[in-house]
Amino acid sequence: MLSLELNKTEMPKVLPIVGAVREGKGQKTVFVKCNDDVKPGQFYMVWIPGIDAKPFAVSYKSKGELGFTSQIVGPFTAEFDRLEKGDKVGLFGPYGNSFTLKENACVVAGGVGMSSVSTLIDFLKNPEIIYGARSKEHLIYTKRFKNKRITYCTDDGSFGRKGFTTEALEEALKNSNNKKSSKKDKNKIKIVYTCGPEVMMKKVAEICEKYKVGCEVSMERHMSCGFGICGKCALNGKFVCVDGPVFNAKELKKLSDFGKEARLKSCRKVPLSEYHAPKAH
Ligand SMILES: Cc1cc2nc3c(=O)[nH]c(=O)nc-3n(C[C@H](O)[C@H](O)[C@H](O)COP(=O)(O)OP(=O)(O)OC[C@H]3O[C@@H](n4cnc5c(N)ncnc54)[C@H](O)[C@@H]3O)c2cc1C
Repeated sequence: MLSLELNKTEMPKVLPIVGAVREGKGQKTVFVKCNDDVKPGQFYMVWIPGIDAKPFAVSYKSKGELGFTSQIVGPFTAEFDRLEKGDKVGLFGPYGNSFTLKENACVVAGGVGMSSVSTLIDFLKNPEIIYGARSKEHLIYTKRFKNKRITYCTDDGSFGRKGFTTEALEEALKNSNNKKSSKKDKNKIKIVYTCGPEVMMKKVAEICEKYKVGCEVSMERHMSCGFGICGKCALNGKFVCVDGPVFNAKELKKLSDFGKEARLKSCRKVPLSEYHAPKAH
């Protein structure tokens, strides 16, 4: 028996865009005035009138404003990329759970997944950040986080170190674990938060298990409603919208879909390779 506690907003908050900023390639942030109490990790269904509503993390939260950052991957995000100051969007939410806020944290982000952990980074005390993208032009928030402890990784070596975030994470944990210090070591990484391509997050979860470090993963799946009805975001028996989007890696390990299968817009379950194929819908 499906039992869900719905917290659906009956009507969206329709708000004018008060600012729009071009980020990396095909990436844009729009800002709206909104005083909602949103926790790091939560998301909204962002409605573009006449187009559709899709899930987006809150990427900025300050002074009564919320920001949303999009990467063009299909029709909705292409429309999002055309939004300008004065256009209107509707917000359903906030929805979903949030990250726990622990000290001695490492944040691992891949691509536009950075937008789902950026307010978390704002909240955390001096986290170690590992951030990767295909190339320099796909990195976002480089100015925003210029004073943070951050290691950039690019697949092509055009910025930061050449290689994957997972390699940098393994090194960081190896160093952290090898410290000749007591369990109370202030610098020891105790929790890893991650969002990005699922193949990356799966590897991050495995590395954390190997080094016996906690890990929380922000999952992304197709979603039409955001409150547990459409079923597209199902991950075995869990829904990303209401049981997540943040999952503990130990919980994910029990869900065989993680890193393997996902549902298309039609709800048909397919291997992740097909899910991410351009013509899979
Ligand atoms: C909780 C949550 C938070 C999100 N936050 C952000 C965000 O801050 N910024 C952002 O750019 N995107 C975010 N997304 C993903 C975003 O919702 C999708 O990129 C968007 O719905 C794509 O719509 P589209 O019509 O442009 O492309 P579509 O035609 O729907 O999809 C094109 C391709 O993108 C991939 N894709 C689409 N939707 C998803 C998804 N939900 N998860 C993984 N891959 C997907 C698939 O590979 C698909 O083949 C989030 C998703 C979730 C579930």
